[in-house]
Amino acid sequence: MTISPTTNGVKTLETLNNGVNNEDTNGFPIRPDRTLSYSQNTHSQLRTEVSDEQMMDAVRTMLLGVGEDPEREGLLKTPKRVAEAMRFLTSGYNQSLEDLVNGAIFDEGHEEMVLVRDINFFSMCEHHMLPFMGRAHVAYIPNQKVIGLSKLARIVEMYSRRLQVQERLTRQIAEAIKAVLEPQGVAVVMEATHMCMAMRGVQKPGSWTVTSAMVGIFQEEQKTREEFLNLIRHQPSFF
Ligand SMILES: [Zn+2]
Repeated sequence: MTISPTTNGVKTLETLNNGVNNEDTNGFPIRPDRTLSYSQNTHSQLRTEVSDEQMMDAVRTMLLGVGEDPEREGLLKTPKRVAEAMRFLTSGYNQSLEDLVNGAIFDEGHEEMVLVRDINFFSMCEHHMLPFMGRAHVAYIPNQKVIGLSKLARIVEMYSRRLQVQERLTRQIAEAIKAVLEPQGVAVVMEATHMCMAMRGVQKPGSWTVTSAMVGIFQEEQKTREEFLNLIRHQPSFF
């Protein structure tokens, strides 16, 4: 994991935390986008610094900026709705991996591949704060220990509900599974379409982006990786 020390995100955090608890145990500045098990306290503290009213004011400013009248009837409640939607769409910041897993790890002695395919996800790109969405395929080869299948989907959801880039999101999911299960390997493939590419910029709807993160045996053994890639391409007979 690389950590770049000077970004706006870090400055904001440091300012808002008033210099308290703004480094992790390795002395790196805390980046909510980078941490795997983010302390809830630190982030709640950060959140209370910006009130709902301030978020709503920011939305009103945006409406004025695009030439709208925030006082017209259809827009009166929009700032409140947008603020609430933003809180929800970034609610992954308030979750921690520990709380999410909540002990749902079982010693099954299983050592074959476990794959959950086609997990729908919705995230927002950190460059434009526009949605990107698609499907995630998550596999691991246990080292005796397995995790409840729904937890894999919940991990995808937790990291998706933050401001992201698809590459980092993919890597974070893989690292999270590695951290909680210490498996022989983890593979994550994400296929997504980005509204910032479809609706603006190069305006290429229909294009999609694939990212992958391979850890352990999936990285080392071509055969294992191939098996995974075949399984995610395979068309299930019950559809
Ligand atoms: Zn973007």
